Amino acid sequence: MCPIDYFPTDYADGRAKFRTAAEQAGAELGTYDAGARGPDGTALTTDVALLGSRDAPHLFLCNSATHGVEGFCGSGIFSGFLDSGEMARLPSNVRVVLIHALNCHGFAWLRRVTEENVDLNRNFVDHTKNHPKNTEYAKLHPAILPDNWDDKTVAKSTQKLEAYASKTSLYKLQSVLTGGQYDHPDGIFYGGREPTRAHERFLDIVENHVVGAEHVLFLDWHTGLGTYGTGELLGMTRPGSAHGDRVSKWFSHGLETPAEGQATSAPLTGTIGSGLRRHLANSNTEVTSLTVEFGTYPVREVLMPLIADNWLHAKGDPDSNLGRAIKGQIRRALYPDEADWKELVWVRGRQIMRRGVAGLGEL
Ligand SMILES: [Zn+2]
Repeated sequence: MCPIDYFPTDYADGRAKFRTAAEQAGAELGTYDAGARGPDGTALTTDVALLGSRDAPHLFLCNSATHGVEGFCGSGIFSGFLDSGEMARLPSNVRVVLIHALNCHGFAWLRRVTEENVDLNRNFVDHTKNHPKNTEYAKLHPAILPDNWDDKTVAKSTQKLEAYASKTSLYKLQSVLTGGQYDHPDGIFYGGREPTRAHERFLDIVENHVVGAEHVLFLDWHTGLGTYGTGELLGMTRPGSAHGDRVSKWFSHGLETPAEGQATSAPLTGTIGSGLRRHLANSNTEVTSLTVEFGTYPVREVLMPLIADNWLHAKGDPDSNLGRAIKGQIRRALYPDEADWKELVWVRGRQIMRRGVAGLGEL
C-alpha cells in the first residue's frame, strides 16, 4: 500500500485499516467498548493489537488519540507499521502493544477532548489531592468562551489574547492556555476533577498488558506542535539520568530530541505518561516514557480552532453550517490531510518505531 493511504479519512476508516493490518500481521486483537457512539451512530471502541511472544520481558507500548482528533497520525503510522511487515522482524525479547484510539470519542467527533470535555493528557493528576491552580487562565476564560461566535466576538477575543501575548510573550500565552486548568469545565485544556472513562480504559489496558513487564517503552503520539511534518520527542530527554541516557542512546541521531525547556510544548500537568509512571511506581517495571509530537501549523492557527470547537460544543450547534465550518478548521489544524505532510510523518514515524523496537531489543 502507498504510505499515504495508511492515513485514514475518519475514525471508522482508521479502525478498519488498523484491524485489517493487525490481523494480516498475525496480531492478537482486543476491543474495549467505550459505551458511546460517533456522529454517524457507530459504536466507538478502543482497539488493541498485541504482537510478539507474551513472555517477552520488554514491552513497546504505543498509544494514539489521547487527544481524539490528533489520532489520525498515530492511526496511520500504526497501520503502516503493521502492513509493511516491520513486525515480522521483532527481536525475541520484545513484544508490542498498539492502542488505537484511546479517546475514540474525540477522534470520531473531531474533538481534542473526551466526552466529558476533558483534556485526557491533563487528567492523570492525583485526584485525591488538591487540583493545580491556573489563576492566569481564569483571567482569560471569558475571552475563551464568548456567548456568540461571530466576526465581532471572535475579533474581541483575539484582541484580548493578543494583548496578553504582547504584555508577556506568545510562549507565556501558550503556557497559560495549554498547561492545564481544573476550575472551568466549559473551558479549554480542562483536566477534570476525576478520572475520565478513557483514563480508566487506559489503566485497564495497562493492567492487562503492561504489569509484569521488565521494561516498558511508552510512546504517546500527538500532533499540533512544532514544525510542519517534523517529529519531535518530548519528555525527560536530557542525558545524565538513566532515563535520559536511554532516550539519547535510542533516539538521538537523526531525530529531534530537545532538552527540557527547549521543546515546543509548554510544561504540562497530569499527562498520561505521568499516570503510567504512578501506576507502576510500586512495581518492578522500569518505564521509559515520551511524547511524540508532529508539527502542523503555527501556534495561533492551531489554538483558535480549539477555542472555536470548545465554544461550539458549549454554546453552539455542531450540526449547523457554522458547526461544520469549525469542524473543518479543527480537523485541518491537527491533521493537515495533505500528501506532503503524510509522507513526512510516515517516514519519521517509522524511524521512531524502528528505533523503539531496536532499543528495547538491546536491553
Ligand atoms: Zn496532543
